[in-house]
Amino acid sequence: MTYDPTNIFAKILNGDLPCHKVHEDDIALVMMDIFPQSKGHTLVVPKAASRNLLDANPADLSAVMPLVQRVAQAVKAATRADGLRVMQFNEAPAGQTVFHLHFHIIPIYEGVALGA
Ligand code: 5GP
Repeated sequence: MTYDPTNIFAKILNGDLPCHKVHEDDIALVMMDIFPQSKGHTLVVPKAASRNLLDANPADLSAVMPLVQRVAQAVKAATRADGLRVMQFNEAPAGQTVFHLHFHIIPIYEGVALGA
């Protein structure tokens, strides 16, 4: 599988499409998910071009994972969620719909179903 530079997150990274940005640095863009699974569902989108985890450069992963942790900590504090899921899908059969590597930070609230 190859990387398609016309994917929607590439367009957001290029500034060709808007997003609700919460953070940006040299490594990644952090934005709110347009179809949140729960209040505060946030996406960390590395700037390095890879389709998913399977083709990512290990050095790029090393650079982005501390940011994933910091975003998880910040989302947990901001939402006061009871827990968090950090998720990442690889290829369509596994649920991937946007083919640019990204990490979901999904707050979990006790007694509230995802997607509710
Ligand atoms: P995947 O299933 O590929 O891991 O997740 C893609 C995620 O991107 C989904 O949660 C979906 O709601 C989100 N998404 C799709 N299009 C857009 C968009 O244009 N902007 C933002 N912020 N999120 C998007």
